[in-house]
Amino acid sequence: MRLDKFICKSTDLSRTEARRTIQAGEVLVNGEAITDEATQVHENNCITLAGQRLIARPSRYLMMHKPPGTLCSNVDGAYPSLFHRLDIDRADDLHIVGRLDADTTGLVLLTDDGRWSFNIIRPQQQCEKVYRVGLRDPLAEEVAERFAQGLLLQGESAPTLPARLEPVAPREVLLTITEGRFHQVKRMFAAVGNRVVKLHREQIGGVRLDVPSGQWRHLSADEVFSF
Ligand code: URA
Repeated sequence: MRLDKFICKSTDLSRTEARRTIQAGEVLVNGEAITDEATQVHENNCITLAGQRLIARPSRYLMMHKPPGTLCSNVDGAYPSLFHRLDIDRADDLHIVGRLDADTTGLVLLTDDGRWSFNIIRPQQQCEKVYRVGLRDPLAEEVAERFAQGLLLQGESAPTLPARLEPVAPREVLLTITEGRFHQVKRMFAAVGNRVVKLHREQIGGVRLDVPSGQWRHLSADEVFSF
């Protein structure tokens, strides 16, 4: 990781303070003063500040049940940020892995490990996301087949990857997709002349939502390594 990130993960310094400290030559990597904050370091390197060896805090991995009317953003906008619900130290260090719309509820993963989140959202990974979808109109017969084939969304040139649709009730389905295009679920149903009136994410990969709305918990090691 970058040296300034390492300093943030091993001290209480902000990113700006960490950069200043590095540029002032106060940080030694294996005994040598390093003044470029972008230098790549490894946790096995001996990194010291004021004579003290620094040890990076372990990365954090959380699930949260996003309530409706909250934003998947670190700052407030038209709705309050989800982060207000996160009663945890240094919440600002965390980022969201795959955002949900303000009116969508359900499973959100949060971490401060950029590699882990990148691995989940990179298109090649084709990580499955399961949504419970409430529809305005009863599901038409041909929709499951059209989703399985892939369909063209408005303004796009590549069709969606095959998606799995399981009817639950005339106006409720479970939809499994392996991409994360902008407003993808809503646009898929719009493309077949229907409309999403309720959207809830139940699962990402092998991780299933199991905390009440507004609550969070740490992921187990098995869940972290399942991606
Ligand atoms: N698809 C959408 O349309 N909205 C979401 O929030 C998630 C997936």
